[in-house]
Amino acid sequence: MINVAILGSTGSVGTSTLDVIARQSEQFRAFALTANKNVERLYEQCLQFLPEIAVMVDEAAADDLQQRLKNNSNTSHIIVFSGSKALDDVAADKRVDYVMAAIVGAAGLSSSLAAARNGKRILLANKESLVMSGDLFMQAVKDNGATLLPIDSEHNAIFQSMPVQLTSTGTTIENQASLQTSGVEKILLTASGGPFLRKSLEQLHHVTPDQACAHPTWDMGRKISVDSATMMNKGLEVIEASWLFNASADDIQVVIHPQSVIHSMVSYSDGSVLAQLGNPDMRTPIAHAMAWPDRMVSGVEQLDILKIAQLNFEQPDFARFVCLRLAYDALRAGGTAPAILNAANEIAVDSFLNGNIAFTRIAEIVEQTLEKVAGETAASMHIVLAADGQARYVAEELCDSYIQVKLFLL
Ligand code: NDP
Repeated sequence: MINVAILGSTGSVGTSTLDVIARQSEQFRAFALTANKNVERLYEQCLQFLPEIAVMVDEAAADDLQQRLKNNSNTSHIIVFSGSKALDDVAADKRVDYVMAAIVGAAGLSSSLAAARNGKRILLANKESLVMSGDLFMQAVKDNGATLLPIDSEHNAIFQSMPVQLTSTGTTIENQASLQTSGVEKILLTASGGPFLRKSLEQLHHVTPDQACAHPTWDMGRKISVDSATMMNKGLEVIEASWLFNASADDIQVVIHPQSVIHSMVSYSDGSVLAQLGNPDMRTPIAHAMAWPDRMVSGVEQLDILKIAQLNFEQPDFARFVCLRLAYDALRAGGTAPAILNAANEIAVDSFLNGNIAFTRIAEIVEQTLEKVAGETAASMHIVLAADGQARYVAEELCDSYIQVKLFLL
């Protein structure tokens, strides 16, 4: 029996992971489940999956959960912890074999690192671990013999399309011989283009949080849905891919593919292009990474190739999707620039979701934060976290200044 810790089990990726585990209960066990505040959902998950450990980061929520579990004889054995340190402890627990890193945002960084430092198989959905501290994270994976498998559907597709000599033990640094010597010409990272692919800049200014969260092909959490709408999500994925596959910014080309059937491609020097196709459902990459190098049933309907009338591709418009350009710029700048980009974006997206700033301000705030916070070499986690904190402070001030202008104009 393989023990899986699901960090962020109440979220979109976490729920899909539990769905896969429920179908494969002879092989996998949900050993630990974690959430931030969503007691209702974590309690339901505990009732169904009977983990050994449940973590609620929020203390009051943890007390509430503990009380509910205690009152039920089926669940009274479950140990409840609170606080973010408990996430690191779960990721490091000796009894845990696989860690699904599916916490949203920078809050997921520390526990992903703990999994790497303890040599786990890491099923990595949390992008921020690589975006903020790719160098340190990949080094921790290497130094501790962890196995890193990408869950993001695009990176999972690239992983599946890469030459076998680059993926034989997961995406560890040992396997990262130069892409070119392995015959790889380019990584073609596909993007649906999000819900606003055809909207003008003027129309973008007026979109609401609910419109931004209504993704045409994927069902995801609210933060990543907004990132998809601004295409910051694709920018973060470019940075993520650069670390996972030892690729430069020039090695990675973003291609808009609105149907989201091809999840990404690898182009080779002999003229071949290998792609991974499937219905847009996160259970496919999750099941792939859990079963790897084997395959198993995920619950995803088979792709009916005859029903796909068309596969379209186009260039992204960097003038309308400014966040994508900013992410490429941050990757080229290196050091703490991607961490600054990520932190500013988290603050701006939160402010947008709370109805405080317009959609188009997100890119403006990220760009201005990158200008105001000086980047430096990301030599230690301390430096990365300091850059993250500074960027959050600056981005918050910028959000406040936009809110004040809005109030003044009312
Ligand atoms: P959701 O917002 O749906 O879920 C986030 C999870 O993280 C929840 O369990 C939430 O708990 C928990 N969480 C939130 N804040 C904290 C915190 N401060 N400390 C501890 N736990 C916290 O996110 P998604 O599932 O959509 O995304 C998760 C990650 O995977 C993101 O990094 C995203 O970019 C990435 N990803 C997501 C994909 C998708 O299809 N959704 C695809 C590829 C990557 P609670 O419910 O209590 O708030």
